[in-house]
Amino acid sequence: MAEPEFDVVVVGFGPVGALLANLLGRHGLRVLVLERDADIHPLPRAVHFDGEVMRVFQAAGLAEAVGSVARATSKGMHFVNAAGETLMVRRGADGPGPHGWANNWYFHQPELDAVLREGVARFANVEVRLRHEVMAVRDAGTHASVAVREVATGASSERTARYVVGCDGARSLVRDAIGASMLDLGLHQPWLVVDVVARPRSERAQRLPDYTVQHCDPRRPMTRVHVKGLRHRWEIMLMPGDDEAEIVRPARIWPMLARAVGPDDVRIERAAVYTFHALVAAPWRRGRLMLAGDSAHQTPPFLGQGMCAGIRDAANLAWKLELVVAGAAGESLLDTCEAERSLHVREFIELAVRLGAVIQATDPDAAEARDAEFRASGPRMFDFPQPRLGRGVWAGDSPACGVVFPQPRLADGRRLDEAVGNRFAVLSVLPLGTLGARTRGPGGLDLAFVDAPGPEVEEWLARQEAVAVIVRPDRYVFGIARNEAELRRTLDELPSLLH
Ligand SMILES: Cc1cc2nc3c(=O)[nH]c(=O)nc-3n(C[C@H](O)[C@H](O)[C@H](O)COP(=O)(O)OP(=O)(O)OC[C@H]3O[C@@H](n4cnc5c(N)ncnc54)[C@H](O)[C@@H]3O)c2cc1C
Repeated sequence: MAEPEFDVVVVGFGPVGALLANLLGRHGLRVLVLERDADIHPLPRAVHFDGEVMRVFQAAGLAEAVGSVARATSKGMHFVNAAGETLMVRRGADGPGPHGWANNWYFHQPELDAVLREGVARFANVEVRLRHEVMAVRDAGTHASVAVREVATGASSERTARYVVGCDGARSLVRDAIGASMLDLGLHQPWLVVDVVARPRSERAQRLPDYTVQHCDPRRPMTRVHVKGLRHRWEIMLMPGDDEAEIVRPARIWPMLARAVGPDDVRIERAAVYTFHALVAAPWRRGRLMLAGDSAHQTPPFLGQGMCAGIRDAANLAWKLELVVAGAAGESLLDTCEAERSLHVREFIELAVRLGAVIQATDPDAAEARDAEFRASGPRMFDFPQPRLGRGVWAGDSPACGVVFPQPRLADGRRLDEAVGNRFAVLSVLPLGTLGARTRGPGGLDLAFVDAPGPEVEEWLARQEAVAVIVRPDRYVFGIARNEAELRRTLDELPSLLH
C-alpha cells in the first residue's frame, strides 16, 4: 500500500469536527473533512460553553473570533420552583475565571459554527468536502479506508488516511463501524426547544432575565435562556398526552410562554422537539477508527455541556494524533483518549441526569417534598465539576495530577498558554538552568520551560507543596515535583507513558 493520502479523515463538520480540524491543521497534519450537508446546521442546539472551552478555542487561534460572536457573562444558572423560590444556583463568576476567560459564554450556534469553519480555511493542509457523505469506513490494517458518495452527483470514491475520527454526531456511522455499544445513564425525555427574537421595543422582552432560569414547575418544567442580544430560548418539557407534531405550532407555544412574553414581544424563530439522552459509547477506538463528540457521548443539556465535552475530546485527541503521526509516540497513546475522557464526561452527564431529576419532577407531591427539602437547607450552590481524567498520560498521586491546570497570567503579563504554545510545559520556581538549557525534553519532546512563572503559579505550586508542574499540551497536569530530583524523574517517565 502506498502512503495514505491523509493523516486524518474527520467525518462530520459540526462544532467538534470543525474544532478538531483547526487543531490538527495547526499541528501541520494532512487532514480531509467530509460533511454530508451543504450548509451549517440551521437549527441551533448548543447555546452555552464554559471557560475551559474558550481556552481550547484560544489554542486553535480563534479566541478573538469566537469572542466576537459570543456573550460572556458573570451570571450563573438559577433553579426556581413554581412559587418562584430558588432551590439551587450554579454559580457564576466575576471577571476571568481559572481558565483566563469568563467562565460562561452564550452564543447563537450557526455563528459559532461559521467562525470554526472560517478558522479551518486558514490551513492549506486541511481539505474540506461539503456534500460528501461517508458511506462506510474500514480499518484496512496499514491504513483506514473511507467510502464516500458525492451527494450532488451520486459519484463514489475511496479515500485513505492513517486515522479516521468520527465526529459524525449522535447517529454515528463510525461508531457502528467500531462496533461500540452504548452505556445508558438513564434519561430519555422529549423537550420542545423554542428560539425567539425579541422585538426591540417590547418592554416585557427587555425585562427577561439575563441569566438562565430552570423553572422546576411540576405542571410544566421549562428552561429559559438569554442567548445573546435579542435572542432568547425556551426549552419546554413535553408532558404525557403532548403530541410532538402539534406542540411545535405557534398556537400551542404562545400559551406556554404567556407568563413572560407574547407575539407583541418576541418573534418565534423556530421550534423543534429533541429527545434528550444520557449515553456513553464503548469503545471509542478500534484500530485506525476513533470517535469524538456526540458520537461518543450524549448528555441532557441541563448543564450546557454536551458540545463542551466534544470540544474537550478534540483537545485531548489532537496533540496525541500529532505525536503518533510524527512517530514521537506509540499508537497505544490513542487508547488513552477513551481511558481519560470517558470517566471525565460521565461526571458531567451524571450531574446533568441528577439535575434532570430535580427539574423534571412532575408529580405534585414529589415536587412539594423536593421544595420542602430545599427550603429546609436553603438554596444549594454548586459549580461545574472539574473531574480528574481517567488513568492515561499523567503520573503521580497528588490530587492535582490529571486535572486541568489554570491559565494565569505569567510574570510578563501574557496568558500562560500564549507563552508556552501547544506543547508540554514545565513551570517551576527552580532555576531551570539546573536542568540544562533544554528546549527538548526526554525522547526528543518539544518542551517549554518557564522558570519565573509569576505569583499565581507560585501560589498554586505552594498549595501542592511542589516546586514544579509539568502541564500537557491540552493543559491537563501531567505531574508535579517536590524537588529537582523528582522533576527529573517525572520528566523521564514521560516518554514511557507516550509509548
Ligand atoms: C436542545 C439542545 C441544547 C443544547 N445545548 C447545549 C449547550 O448549551 N452547550 C453545549 O455544550 N451543548 C449543548 N447541546 C449539545 C450539542 O448541541 C452537541 O453536543 C453538539 O452539537 C455535538 O457536536 P458534534 O460536532 O459532535 O455533532 P453534530 O453537531 O451532530 O455534527 C455532526 C456532523 O456530522 C455530519 N455527518 C453525520 N453523518 C455523516 C456521514 N455519514 N458523512 C458525512 N457527514 C456526516 C452531520 O451532517 C453533522 O454536520 C445541546 C443539544 C440540544 C439538542
